[in-house]
Amino acid sequence: MKVAGRIRSSLLLLGLMPFLLGVERPPGLGDVRDVRTWSYEGYTRVVLELSHEVDLSKAKLVRLAANRHAGRPERLYLDVPGVWVGRRYEDGVEVGDGLLAGVRVGQNTLRNSRLVIDLERYDHHRLFTLPSPARIVVDVYGDPVEAAPDSSGRLPASLRRVRTVVVDPGHGGRDPGATGLYGLREKDVNLSIAKGLAKRLEERGFRVVLTRDDDRTLDLEERTAIAESSGGDVFISIHANASSRAKTRGIEIYTLDENHERHSLDVASRENGVPASKLDPLQRALARLRVDEVGSHSTKLAGLVHEQVIASAKKRDRSLPDLGVKKGPFYVLFMSSMSSVLVETGFLTNKKDAKLLKSVKFQRELAESIAAGVADYRRQMEQGLLSSAEPSARGADRAAARIGSRAP
Ligand SMILES: [Zn+2]
Repeated sequence: MKVAGRIRSSLLLLGLMPFLLGVERPPGLGDVRDVRTWSYEGYTRVVLELSHEVDLSKAKLVRLAANRHAGRPERLYLDVPGVWVGRRYEDGVEVGDGLLAGVRVGQNTLRNSRLVIDLERYDHHRLFTLPSPARIVVDVYGDPVEAAPDSSGRLPASLRRVRTVVVDPGHGGRDPGATGLYGLREKDVNLSIAKGLAKRLEERGFRVVLTRDDDRTLDLEERTAIAESSGGDVFISIHANASSRAKTRGIEIYTLDENHERHSLDVASRENGVPASKLDPLQRALARLRVDEVGSHSTKLAGLVHEQVIASAKKRDRSLPDLGVKKGPFYVLFMSSMSSVLVETGFLTNKKDAKLLKSVKFQRELAESIAAGVADYRRQMEQGLLSSAEPSARGADRAAARIGSRAP
């Protein structure tokens, strides 16, 4: 599996506070381990990997206007407390992707490092942290996408045909996910269902990208990078549930939202590999993020997949509870460019569910019904495209005609 996103790693310049150069490093500070950038079509991701988690609850990403006299471009900066970067990153990372000119990290005070992002274009950003390894992530977005292809030929979600589906088997490698009855490990169940799903989708004419197709460890940053760089239109993350109550069973489907009920937060916490108390920064980032069209498309996708999956599962076991479509703060769904859902296929800790999930037949039926839901979504989106191609919607008309002309 190739990661197509352009990545630039390691680093950086200093020059922020030259007088610190001769200063000894104070004790008790964390280190900057790496600086990476990923260029996507609508945004650029900057990742600062640290040796320790830092508390950014009081930190602010500040935007500074260009200073033409000093020859400085418009830029964003963030002071990172308790981190020593010293002179290690003297050259900075050049990006030059039309959004970012480059990224620098320097020692701002004895106990603060400063991340500086030099901008070429800017509309908005989001800032969040990821655990193990500790990372600060800044996504910088350019101007809002207009209803026309951008330079890479990509249209906004509402005007794109649904062609590419990214299938994400949750966990893997060192991370087994939930463990359940009969020695079941979530990572294996997920992979098996996901491979079946990939096959069913390909039979229906979709292009499919698997985030992993074997038992490997895949970090959330890598997982979303694979998805975002694949040009996917739909993202389906496959998981299996666990509960301390042996009786709890059923299927539930999630979309991303900062709002949640108590149970959703428990599930999100487990799937994110983060204690529920640490989901706050992600929820805050989500709250700041604009609610864009992708959110409503994800809800539509979740509804259609849910309908198919429940209808199919009820045929096998009429008593199987339908836990519905829910919302929660899932890192893996934290993407802006495609409709994304997470399917919790059942509880490995429940006898009946575990027996079902162990059976190849039920796994196949699940794969088939999820694929049917995605196909329903494609159909609805295409009908939407046709109906928006009326003379009153000229922009949409032109754009739809353009996609039409690219169809095989
Ligand atoms: Zn999981």
